[in-house]
Amino acid sequence: MATYEYDCPRCGRFETHQPMGTAPASHECRHCGRPARRIFSAPHLTAVPARLAAALDRAERSGAEPEVVTEVPRRKPPEPHPSLSRLPRP
Ligand SMILES: [Zn+2]
Repeated sequence: MATYEYDCPRCGRFETHQPMGTAPASHECRHCGRPARRIFSAPHLTAVPARLAAALDRAERSGAEPEVVTEVPRRKPPEPHPSLSRLPRP
């Protein structure tokens, strides 16, 4: 089964699940019964995690507008895990 998207002029977009390759160009709206036009959209674009989407946007933007830094970025070293303090010391 595949998901197909249709746009009703009165009710807006809705999805139907039909066997692949059987979706007609027009489908009856399940709310008002008017013919709805099939919409073609890219699949699963909203399934990209937000952090990955931000990283991809940043990588794409850096190709045209690279960030300029005046010093080496320094990070604070991470705090050791509290349970490590209970380990035996030599
Ligand atoms: Zn409708």
